[in-house]
Amino acid sequence: MKRPFIVLYAMIFLFVSLPVRMAYLVFNTNEFPAVTNSIRSIVVSELRGEIYDCSMKPLVNRKLQKTVVAMPYKKSAKVLKDYLEEEEYKSLLCSIDNEEPFMCVCDYEKENDFIKVCERAERYTDDGFCCHVIGYINQSDNEGVYGIEKSYDTLLKSEKRQLLFKYNTTALNKMLAGGECGFVSENYYSQKGVRLTIDADIQRIAENAMRLYETEKGACVVLDSKNGEIRAMASFPRFNQNNVALSLNDENSPFMNRAVSAYSVGSVFKYVVAMAAIEANEENFESYCTGSLKIGRTTFACSNSVAHGSVNLSKAFAYSCNTYFIRLALKIGRDRILKAAENLGFGKSFYLSDGIYPDKGKLPSTEEITTDGALANISFGQGNLLATPLQIASCYSAAVNGGEYISPKLVISTVNSDGTENAIKEKGYRYRAFSEREAEKMKDLLINNFNEGTCVDAKPHNCVAGGKTSTAQTGWIDEKGEEILHSWFAGFAETGNEVYTIVVFKENGVSGSQDCGPVFKEISQRLAEIKCE
Ligand SMILES: [Zn+2]
Repeated sequence: MKRPFIVLYAMIFLFVSLPVRMAYLVFNTNEFPAVTNSIRSIVVSELRGEIYDCSMKPLVNRKLQKTVVAMPYKKSAKVLKDYLEEEEYKSLLCSIDNEEPFMCVCDYEKENDFIKVCERAERYTDDGFCCHVIGYINQSDNEGVYGIEKSYDTLLKSEKRQLLFKYNTTALNKMLAGGECGFVSENYYSQKGVRLTIDADIQRIAENAMRLYETEKGACVVLDSKNGEIRAMASFPRFNQNNVALSLNDENSPFMNRAVSAYSVGSVFKYVVAMAAIEANEENFESYCTGSLKIGRTTFACSNSVAHGSVNLSKAFAYSCNTYFIRLALKIGRDRILKAAENLGFGKSFYLSDGIYPDKGKLPSTEEITTDGALANISFGQGNLLATPLQIASCYSAAVNGGEYISPKLVISTVNSDGTENAIKEKGYRYRAFSEREAEKMKDLLINNFNEGTCVDAKPHNCVAGGKTSTAQTGWIDEKGEEILHSWFAGFAETGNEVYTIVVFKENGVSGSQDCGPVFKEISQRLAEIKCE
């Protein structure tokens, strides 16, 4: 594709005496003709530091563009004519008249004596891949203003990485015909940067799955359940890092990172109540659901007032029976539930990276839950309870990692110019939230949800998995007078030796099973394909 030309006189010219420059040159300086009195440099490309994924694959500077530098000869114009836009071509003719080399981005590939070709890296792709984690820079001053670009701005701009084109000039500062010239790297290939826990392949799987099921506004998180490392963190809509202005007035708030923003959680919270019940040895509690239950003056109903009949913990969890969880909550009591929620990260902040501040959400205090009605409300995730998709992912990881709560982690290390690494000092936390036996019971409940109830359609065909749907009431009414609902799916997938916790969230959805279940299934199956091959 043809690109706007880069005008030569806008480039940085370096006039440096020959002896100082000799060390950098790729050509043999001893053969310079006697008429040479200086060397000029054109900056072909300038890079900030790298942002790597967990396997050291670059997440930035990946987009390579063919760039040509043409010598000011008529034969250059002849060869490049078909590759340039009209304006670019005129500019090339101008350079020839001025006896200066001409540089532009174009598809021409064949290098010869008078046209030199290189590849230069563009910082971002246009598709918004991983944009909420990477962030973006202010193009005018090269300052990181969002995401890792902001958090690690000092490190990422600490090294001047340039690809230069150097050439001999005549006494009149024109390009010397027949003189030496070539590309010279000045730290251009340095490895300095920051290494994240993100896995580029998993990030792509998550983003593609969200797009496949047209999640306009939402988020998706994939955690390594065993160590809390974030393998994917996507938020939709995405934005174009090369042109953030395009998204500034978008009413869907593309710059908001929904993975770390707090929302009503609804029935994914039943996991917490179930955990508390298992801990309280009430896992054999049974009740009878008639589709609704009156507590004080409030009548609480199951979804669509469906009567679930005789239910135990596993059936109630699978069918998301509200009346069962209300009765269970009243039986085990407020304090056990709030303690379990706190142990599982509700209402707690954690450290991700300087400059990235996840919402800590909201867990009601004991003083806020003084009536059976208030306790009933929270038993199925309603009331003054908010959590981020990332928090829900850490919460669900406890069921599959033997009962530990591990705060999520995003950065592994900083990388030096030579590729050696300095590990990031741990600021997260990790503790036992539940016993292994309790976690195992919980895991069995999540797996059983794929055999009966609201999750069955989300069951992946090629790996062991478990999960829970949720359709959360927000209390907000849309312009049609209908209540806005948030959809969730939280679960895990075991693929080869790995266990991943996967949380899918959709703002303003229809239901967890309809909106988020298919995304969960797609991600799980794709993970199983790449991890088991
Ligand atoms: Zn019910």
